[in-house]
Amino acid sequence: MSDLARVRIWADALIRLHLDPAVWSFGFDNAKKRAGLTDYSKKRITVSRYLAARWGDDDVHQILLHEVAHALAGPAAGHGPEWRRMARQIGYVGRRTHDGETATELAPWVGTCPNGHVHYRHRKPTRALSCATCSRSFSRAYLISWTKREISSATRRAAAAASDFR
Ligand SMILES: [Zn+2]
Ligand SMILES: [Zn+2]
Repeated sequence: MSDLARVRIWADALIRLHLDPAVWSFGFDNAKKRAGLTDYSKKRITVSRYLAARWGDDDVHQILLHEVAHALAGPAAGHGPEWRRMARQIGYVGRRTHDGETATELAPWVGTCPNGHVHYRHRKPTRALSCATCSRSFSRAYLISWTKREISSATRRAAAAASDFR
C-alpha cells in the first residue's frame, strides 16, 4: 500500500528530473481500471488514487515512470520503440500487466455462467461462485462452471509486450 502523499512527492521529483515542472503537473484521478494517464493537452500526469493505495511502492513507482516516458516520448510514440527507449532510459522495468481486473489474458481459469457470461480467475476458485452479471447476490441458478486453460508462451510474450499502464 502506497501512501498518497509520498506518491505525490515521487511524482513531483520525477517531473523535475525528466520534464519541465513549469509545464507538467501531477495529480490523482478516480480511475478504477487503469493505473495512470498522461494528458498531453493539459500536460498532466495522473495516477489512480484507488490503485495507488492498493499497490506497493515499487509498482506505483513503475506507473510513474511509465507515464513520464509517455510525456517524454509524445503522443505519437504510443508504446512503440521511441517510448520503450525512453522508458528503459529512466528505469522503467515494468512487465506485468497493471490494469487490475482487466488483466484477463494470462488468467488460466475461465468460467462461464448458464447465460454464457465469461469470467476469469488467476487461481482456482475455492468456493462456488455465481454470475454477478446475472444476479447481484449469490444464486445457485447462475453458478459459474470453471475450466483450466493452458497459457501458451506466445500469449505470455504478447501480454508482456502489451504490458501497459495506459
Ligand atoms: Zn451470467
Ligand atoms: Zn502507456
